[in-house]
Amino acid sequence: MPLTLHVATTNPGKLRDFATAAERHAGEVEFVSLRGMENIEPPPETGATFEENARSKAIEYSRHAPGCIVLADDSGLEVDALHGAPGVRSARYAADAGFAGDHGRALTDDQRNNLLLLQNMQGVAKDQRSARYRCVLAAARDGACIAVGHGAVEGTILKAPRGMGGFGYDPLFYLPELDRTMAEISLEQKHPISHRGNALRSLLAKILPHHSEASRR
Ligand code: IMP
Repeated sequence: MPLTLHVATTNPGKLRDFATAAERHAGEVEFVSLRGMENIEPPPETGATFEENARSKAIEYSRHAPGCIVLADDSGLEVDALHGAPGVRSARYAADAGFAGDHGRALTDDQRNNLLLLQNMQGVAKDQRSARYRCVLAAARDGACIAVGHGAVEGTILKAPRGMGGFGYDPLFYLPELDRTMAEISLEQKHPISHRGNALRSLLAKILPHHSEASRR
């Protein structure tokens, strides 16, 4: 029997991402959306680290699904020249700074975040623009965290966006080995290297052996 993991998301894309990233464990594990997510008040993301946020979300959501293993993640971009910012505030980078963007144009949160990042990186030399996406994925059952997986992918921040795919900071996040930004590669290319894929594989390496052992008993 595959181990069922209940992902705390209402986004079908995220479930598909997880299933693809865990392809090598097909048959051992299946991902479903945590039932009733839309009616659960999301826990506040007030932690100082990705791990704190992922743990507290998984613990809180697991209280709504007794006996189930619930997964929750937290992720973001860390830029070395900005001392790790935007970090845990990645989704709210521009909003936190009260940064509206340019020319009063209506911009999306992602567009405003990218503009602010470019502004804050002005004058930073090419060899000082290192950055990484990080993801921490936590698994909890009945209000207790049972395992945590960490993942990262290294890159650099460009001086202008490139590519139309992806989301968030992807058009500015350049992968030197592929000579592409994250917005220029396909999902098939992204999963094997992505911070989210790596965090998931690290988590599964911790929980699947226990499950296989328990189901053999
Ligand atoms: P969360 O983990 O869904 O809270 O994501 C936090 C924020 O980090 C997102 O809103 C994006 O700004 C950024 N982020 C996380 N992962 C990615 C990614 O794979 N591509 C682009 N941006 C990302």
